[in-house]
Amino acid sequence: MGKVMSEQELLACFDDAIAFGHIFVTYQPKINHSTGRMIGAEALMRWTHPVYGMQYPADFIPVLEKNDLIYRADLAVFESVCSFLRKSLDEGLKPVPISVNMSRYDIYRKNYVDEIEKLRIKYDIPVKYLHVEVTETSAIGGMELVSSVLKRLHEFGYVVEMDDFGSGYSSLNVLKDLAVDVIKLDMRFLSGNIGGRGGTIISAIVQMAKWLGTPVIAEGVETMEQADYMKSIGCRYVQGYLYSKPVPADEFRVKMEQLEHEPMKAAMDLLGKMDAGKFWDPTSMETLIFNNFVGGAVIFTYQSGKAEILRVNKKYVKELGMNMIEQEILDSDPWVGMDDENRKKYEETLLRAIDSGDEEVCETWRTICSKICGEDMICIRSFIRLIGRTEEQYLFYAMVQNITAEKKRYDELFESERRLRYGFEHANVYAWEVDIATRDMRPCFRCMRDLNVPPIVHNYPEPLIESGVFPPDYADMYREWMRKIEHGEVDQIEGIIPLTVGRIPFHVRYTLERDENGKPLKAFGSATLVVDGEDK
Ligand code: C2E
Ligand code: CA
Ligand code: CA
Repeated sequence: MGKVMSEQELLACFDDAIAFGHIFVTYQPKINHSTGRMIGAEALMRWTHPVYGMQYPADFIPVLEKNDLIYRADLAVFESVCSFLRKSLDEGLKPVPISVNMSRYDIYRKNYVDEIEKLRIKYDIPVKYLHVEVTETSAIGGMELVSSVLKRLHEFGYVVEMDDFGSGYSSLNVLKDLAVDVIKLDMRFLSGNIGGRGGTIISAIVQMAKWLGTPVIAEGVETMEQADYMKSIGCRYVQGYLYSKPVPADEFRVKMEQLEHEPMKAAMDLLGKMDAGKFWDPTSMETLIFNNFVGGAVIFTYQSGKAEILRVNKKYVKELGMNMIEQEILDSDPWVGMDDENRKKYEETLLRAIDSGDEEVCETWRTICSKICGEDMICIRSFIRLIGRTEEQYLFYAMVQNITAEKKRYDELFESERRLRYGFEHANVYAWEVDIATRDMRPCFRCMRDLNVPPIVHNYPEPLIESGVFPPDYADMYREWMRKIEHGEVDQIEGIIPLTVGRIPFHVRYTLERDENGKPLKAFGSATLVVDGEDK
């Protein structure tokens, strides 16, 4: 490290530095931590003064920016990268894409993008080998301006990387509004406590980027622990001292020759016409639907036995109940609390959904615990659909219903049903119960079998009137019975009703059960076939 030069000294030597190549480029590889292959590199500016020695960007870039000279340095870097790529191509070497930094002051220069484009054409470099890094703080100058610059870059075909993501407080909004192709997440902005708040922010950003289908590169990765952590939350791409410091062009050329390459890919390709981006816009129709109309829903990824929840809506939280907060759910996985058997059932449903591309349903029990309610067993019916996939990872959307109450009551009913079945078989007795508050009716096994009644009938008795179990001319009478029961006007009611299109006469009886305050709770119904001789 040389002597740090003063502003005056820097300005005095700037022209020479450009002219004589004292300002030059180092390259830092970007690596896929899962495969060890190189996906690209970043060009980083260096300045070696013949007398004062090496100068670092932190010291001289702010000076150049302040004096409106940075664009000249940046163009010099861009040209140097083009020349490096040209040489590599001429030597028959397959280069990786090199990203070049664009100062936010370059954004304010009207022709900057045209000038780099001129250089690219001069060196005849396919545009796929050149990426442009724009820092998040560029948005400070106004969204319209950055947007128009990004648009121009995209028109020429440059891949745009959002640099230093996570450094500004407005990160999430910026990401939603700017059309960037890659996100660079700097570990140093979030360092210290990977397990704590820093980790939560990082994984939220990675999850959101997955949703947007935008690849994420973690930069400033110094340790294996950091790289493994990033991989575990779905970010495979890393750049940092762990793999390599920025190295001079010659050294980098050797790395480029020795290391295998692979292209950078989006974390997730979404299937169909689902517009993932819109899910992050709190005012979009998709978000509105997700939160308000679909019932409990969850979006999660699945990768070789491991699942990770990306998003849940409010109704999902409510459906699982137990006073869990959203974050507790996000930190868990979709099958938390399931025993092996239930988990197997759930995973098999996922595999079926992958195969069929259709909605697949399963019912699974799980133990859930929360700070407030302690432990309980719940049964969840999940309607699962595959909505995205990469080679290794699947993205699922599941709608959930908590059917614990339904299950428990049905199981109880089934138990008593089993005990009574034998007697009923011979007595031709049909039984059911009606929940007064919800108007849900649960029939016995024989009603289901003989009368084709579903396990649960909502808004009883309307669906059975509609289906003809109760004939139309008895509908009003029957409704009147239900009204009386509902209002607690009677404790028992009975009569003969011809059932089904066959108008088979049944003796129908109701007994009302009240709660401790005398409020109607449940009505138990039964129907026995009227045998010849019974009076009408
Ligand atoms: P940056 O664009 O975020 O670049 C990454 C910086 O992190 C580089 O610092 C790099 O050397 C450093 N770095 C990489 N891996 C690690 C690591 O594992 N640990 C640590 N502690 N640091 C790591 P550098 O080269 O000193 O550049 C600093 C900043 O100067 C850059 O930050 C960028 O904003 C700016 N800069 C560098 N080159 C250019 C350029 O050509 N044009 C413009 N406009 N700005 C540049
Ligand atoms: Ca950068
Ligand atoms: Ca950066």
